[in-house]
Amino acid sequence: MRYAIIGDIHSNLTALECVLADIEEQNVDSILCVGDIVGYAADPNECVEIVREKADCVVCGNHDYGLTGQMTLDYFNADARDALLWTEEQLYDDNREWLKSLPLVARHNGMLLTHSTPCHPEDFDYIQTIYDARLAFEHLDCQIGFIGHSHIPVIFTEDEYVDYYLVEEFDVSYNQRLIINVGSVGQPRDLDPRACYAVLDDAEGKLFIRRKEYDVEAAASRILEAGLPEVNANRLFLGR
Ligand code: ZN
Repeated sequence: MRYAIIGDIHSNLTALECVLADIEEQNVDSILCVGDIVGYAADPNECVEIVREKADCVVCGNHDYGLTGQMTLDYFNADARDALLWTEEQLYDDNREWLKSLPLVARHNGMLLTHSTPCHPEDFDYIQTIYDARLAFEHLDCQIGFIGHSHIPVIFTEDEYVDYYLVEEFDVSYNQRLIINVGSVGQPRDLDPRACYAVLDDAEGKLFIRRKEYDVEAAASRILEAGLPEVNANRLFLGR
């Protein structure tokens, strides 16, 4: 099977459409989503509807969780909170209900999906260090886990030791276990503004981190036109 794994879309329809066009060319059998479909940018309904239609497995991100009243908005910084309050007014009821129905952890074809970490996923802790990754591996009951949340694509590995790799292609055919952060479609934060997602080919034993240039100018204009915080637009140009 060939999978595309997307996440941290954050209502950026321009980036999502560009990634979907690339996914089309990648001949994938299935699309999976690690959450944070809404927040920050200007097209929440369209993004939710696309993920609803196209993804075979979706987990809830912290922005989706906050928007649907499952955690306090005090958790978020002012610019994220303002965007969530705006999104709350825009989102159609059925899209909100669907977001609210998403699980924090899901299993799909022997892989695990969670937005942040499988270790107390409701706390939305980041996996940023080897120590964080080691804790997360203790809660991974299969070979491969997919995550998002930090918006930084990274592959954590566990065999004798826990290690990490910042690469665009990775061999997944070894017996080591993997926690793969697929990066962010709609708001990359690794100083590379290109939209990011992952492709897994389990027959070939390969994982690819894909980067796609999209019309950042258009996405930023949508954010400003909607009256959303300017910083949410400006950061897209910088990839941070
Ligand atoms: Zn996010």
